[in-house]
Amino acid sequence: MIPEPCTMVLFGASGDLSGRKLIPALFQEGLLPAEFTLVGTALVPMGHEGFRSRMRTAVEQSFGVGGVDPAAWNAFARGLYYVPLDISSAGDYARLGGLLERVEAERRTRGNRLFYLAVSPALFGDVVERLGESGLARSDARRWSRIVVEKPFGTDLPSARRLNTRLRRYFDESSIYRMDHYLGKEMVQNLLVLRLANGIFEPLWNQRHIDHIQVTCAEPLGVEGRGGYYEQAGVVRDMIQNHAFQVLSLIAMEPPASLEPEAVRDEKVRVLEAARPFTPERIRAECVRGQYGPGLIAGAPVCGYRQEPGVSPTSGVETYAMLTMRFDNARWAGVPFYVRSGKRLKERLTEVVVQFKEGRENLFGAGQRERMSANQLIIRIQPHESVTLRVAMKAPGRAVRVRDMDMSFFYAASHEGPPPEAYERLLLDGMLGVSTLYTREDMVERAWELVTPVLDAWSHMGAEPNYAAGTWGPADASRLLERQGLAWNGA
Ligand code: NAP
Repeated sequence: MIPEPCTMVLFGASGDLSGRKLIPALFQEGLLPAEFTLVGTALVPMGHEGFRSRMRTAVEQSFGVGGVDPAAWNAFARGLYYVPLDISSAGDYARLGGLLERVEAERRTRGNRLFYLAVSPALFGDVVERLGESGLARSDARRWSRIVVEKPFGTDLPSARRLNTRLRRYFDESSIYRMDHYLGKEMVQNLLVLRLANGIFEPLWNQRHIDHIQVTCAEPLGVEGRGGYYEQAGVVRDMIQNHAFQVLSLIAMEPPASLEPEAVRDEKVRVLEAARPFTPERIRAECVRGQYGPGLIAGAPVCGYRQEPGVSPTSGVETYAMLTMRFDNARWAGVPFYVRSGKRLKERLTEVVVQFKEGRENLFGAGQRERMSANQLIIRIQPHESVTLRVAMKAPGRAVRVRDMDMSFFYAASHEGPPPEAYERLLLDGMLGVSTLYTREDMVERAWELVTPVLDAWSHMGAEPNYAAGTWGPADASRLLERQGLAWNGA
């Protein structure tokens, strides 16, 4: 579906996210209306042509010089404009308003506006207020205004609430799009389809048949020069409260009554409401925090977190976390969800492993088994998107020997080619007014509510580095599973 004509106003247009993700995604998007217009703003002074040429360089960096068709670029670039703007300066919004009026008339975008906040989170609230006060974010029966807010949405529950309050002063909840780009990933969207469009999974999707679920969001990258930011964040704020909880809620939620945005989002919140709160005992017994020390990534030595630029040499910030989530509802009673995320881990890997229970009777004795585990459904979100069902099969040969075999579907091998970038899908949805893949106010707040006791407890503990870069994280996280007779997938 092609959205109505609109103008996207991009705050932070000279920044990393805009150049690396947003502009390439918009250029690549095949479904933009011909009238689509983008007005970029940032502090740096430049004119429209300067902005177009800067964005062309950014797009070439994404797709390679040969990957940018000059005619397609020229058509896209005609809709790009730029105005320098200091977020704190009311006068600059008047200039932005003047440019908007002009380009909207020229390009016939009907006054529809999508404001995108690709600036530091510290500036989100200020942009919202200035937009509201200046009257630029107005909507009526003929034209809409929507706002996309990047992550992180707050740094704790009070700050998320404050930002929600400021947003709600000028925008309806239905016009607020809180970005979590994980939701735009093809395999994250596939979670619900896999669960609910297949008669074979949903009947098994409960405590009677599932032993436990693992959710892993691992990356070998360190803080990549953003030590200052990470010192304020840590992995729970950076990854778990948002991305991991989004994945978790899609796996654990009840089937929605329909695929309408509110029906899906209601169920996602409902299941997080059933999540058992973290008490001091649970944090001690069922959660693991970690920080990387020096080690090897792909054979090359890397420094520890405390040696990274911008990081305190005595920092206690967690670069790894493992939380055992439990849902007190009929579907999941007694089923732990082990959620882990970390930096400087062995591989880049985001996956969900659904571990089914052993069959009650097993005809095949230990002597006949070669590494037979219970069935697993492994959903690889990135990289190499795939779905694998691990089943027991007879190993070829005369003797009856039972082996694990993988039945796999790899996206790369499908004739449809690689899935679209998350931002392509999400930007289009923002223009279409489809909010299913954006986070609702109550979900953000519930997620903060859940992690706050963990953050509080950990902020009072001095933590020493406890895993070497290039490993799978602290030994305690493996031990915690071993005590239950379990292991991390692939460990
Ligand atoms: P960035 O590279 O530091 O860019 C910040 C942008 O904000 C620049 O365009 C900068 O303009 C502009 N800016 C700073 N102060 C301003 C002011 N007072 N008035 C107007 N503009 C101002 O940041 P980023 O990495 O792109 O991140 C932007 C947002 O996206 C953040 O909320 C971040 O958490 C989120 N995000 C980023 C990524 C990523 O991969 N980068 C991923 C997920 C989420 P000048 O260049 O003119 O100073």
